Amino acid sequence: MKAFVMKGLDRVGFAEKPVPQPGPNDAIVRTTRALICTSDAHTVHGAIGPRENLTLGHEAVGIVHQVGSEVRRFKPGDRVVVGAITPDWGDPASQAGHSSQSGTALGGWKFANIKDGVFAEYFHVNDADANLAAIPPGVPDEAAAYCCDMLSTGLMAAENADIPMGGTVAVFALGPVGLMAVAGARLRGAGLVIGVDSVAKRAELARYYGADEIVDHSREDVVKRIVEISGGGGVDAAIEALGGNEPFENAIKVTKPGGTISNAGYHGKGDFVNIPRLEWGVGMAEKTIRTGLCPGGRLRMERMLQLIRSGRIDPTRMTTHSFGFDQLEQAFTMMDRKLDGIIKPLITF
Ligand code: ZN
Repeated sequence: MKAFVMKGLDRVGFAEKPVPQPGPNDAIVRTTRALICTSDAHTVHGAIGPRENLTLGHEAVGIVHQVGSEVRRFKPGDRVVVGAITPDWGDPASQAGHSSQSGTALGGWKFANIKDGVFAEYFHVNDADANLAAIPPGVPDEAAAYCCDMLSTGLMAAENADIPMGGTVAVFALGPVGLMAVAGARLRGAGLVIGVDSVAKRAELARYYGADEIVDHSREDVVKRIVEISGGGGVDAAIEALGGNEPFENAIKVTKPGGTISNAGYHGKGDFVNIPRLEWGVGMAEKTIRTGLCPGGRLRMERMLQLIRSGRIDPTRMTTHSFGFDQLEQAFTMMDRKLDGIIKPLITF
């Protein structure tokens, strides 16, 4: 089969690979649609170290091709979504409620990390009964593909933010995760949602998904402006959806005492992340910092699908570009360099 791989540091391309085989609890899925993630670009540039011939991609839907002898819930022909995170559900971390960390820190993340990813004609899914979800009629593949990561991660950011009904929320960076965090904040009952970004298209989408105000960090003093908009005291919750020191520090600064900072960003640089001492109340302001990796699993995917099915969220508005599988290299370059106002590219197999 054909697969799109990381050939080495900063190098991608197509490769021929054998179709994977399922173990007793596994499934093989024939890919129909996938989305490219900024994380794929991070991987190619060395985020998980040098790799050779590693199939990229972790956001895909498809048709079940083959199942192992112990798989009960799924059969060949079923239309399914697979979480970007595919935990080992028997692991102690999973049993303690932290399935994304099963095996080791971030250990639920297997695709394009510890095994081949989904940018191939077929891909392998461990613990199929627990990690696949059937896509209901009425939810198209191109919408369901957002459940894998963008919806699950963005909504996790809003869930972790512990937003009071009618409360105020600031969302730093309005890429796909930030946009879904905005939508999540709205669904979780925020009374005022403030988005931070400098890109016009992202600001427009953020307004569509529920942002009341947009602060352009390239033109304004973000902290001052957010505190001002919030009525002077800061926000109840801040969501960091970029993975940068400055937005992380600003998230802490704009959060009022007793509030929550929810991190969904990937902090890929430096040895430390800084906490601003004074705005942290010298360690005593009762500010909570929560972190999380995209939640996976069948139940989580079913809930994400239900939000699409009922019309609560239409994630397809974020699809700015579409490509065929054979155009993946071009699509990857565009996503890597964020060309042509790209937000999320959809790949059809
Ligand atoms: Zn992703």
